Amino acid sequence: MRTVGGMRVPLRGGPGDGQIVAGGGETIVWRACLYEITPERGHHRGAELRIYQHRPDCCETYGRGAEDLCE
Ligand SMILES: [Zn+2]
Repeated sequence: MRTVGGMRVPLRGGPGDGQIVAGGGETIVWRACLYEITPERGHHRGAELRIYQHRPDCCETYGRGAEDLCE
């Protein structure tokens, strides 16, 4: 895949689930959350985008049990 400034990627899991954000590379930080690149791809407005998965250890670092409660 090309790496282009302003590329948008979908987030999956955690508080940012379903968000489309600008980013790229191995990881993306969305608010307080860390998302990590996956081999999977999703579609958004006709474009095929690499999906970023919420890291399971992201929220646990802050002592919260549920992985969808980061804030
Ligand atoms: Zn998180």
